[in-house]
Amino acid sequence: MGTDTEEREVACPCGDGKIIVTVSTPDHGWLSAYNVHRSAQIMCPSCSGEFLIDRMCVVRRDEFNANKIGWECWRNAHKAFDAAEDVLRVKAEFAEYLKKFKSVAAIHRHLVEHQLDNHSIGTFRRNWNGEEDWVGKRIGSYNIAKILSLLGKATDGFSERIREIETLQATIPNARVVMTL
Ligand SMILES: [Zn+2]
Repeated sequence: MGTDTEEREVACPCGDGKIIVTVSTPDHGWLSAYNVHRSAQIMCPSCSGEFLIDRMCVVRRDEFNANKIGWECWRNAHKAFDAAEDVLRVKAEFAEYLKKFKSVAAIHRHLVEHQLDNHSIGTFRRNWNGEEDWVGKRIGSYNIAKILSLLGKATDGFSERIREIETLQATIPNARVVMTL
């Protein structure tokens, strides 16, 4: 058993060169989307400086990089938020808050009621690893306002950071698809 490889040429964006698209399929009968391998290479020197191929789409390099950097900034802002002292204090307080419930089922009911969890009770029990574990994994800038309100605390000290993270996400530039291969 081997592999069939097919190559086709597509004109590059500037029109002076080409993109070589390679499709490899195993030559036995088990053909499915999972074992078809596609790749592409931009053969035009000027286009390969300007564009790159991401998941079989031709995109501009500068837009691709701006998008990547945008997501990286957003992830870093999340990490900084999660590690901030006042956020860690809220997490610890919410862990104590959860410990007052008399069972895991009661915790689950309460969290679902306040849209802080949407798993079935079975899944929730399987993943349950204690209050500290839950607050560590499931509290972030996206739901801390709700957590604070359950604790009877004001969101004032957090709202500016929450807005910043939302703005970061909303302003991540897209890498537009120039060509689909
Ligand atoms: Zn070109």
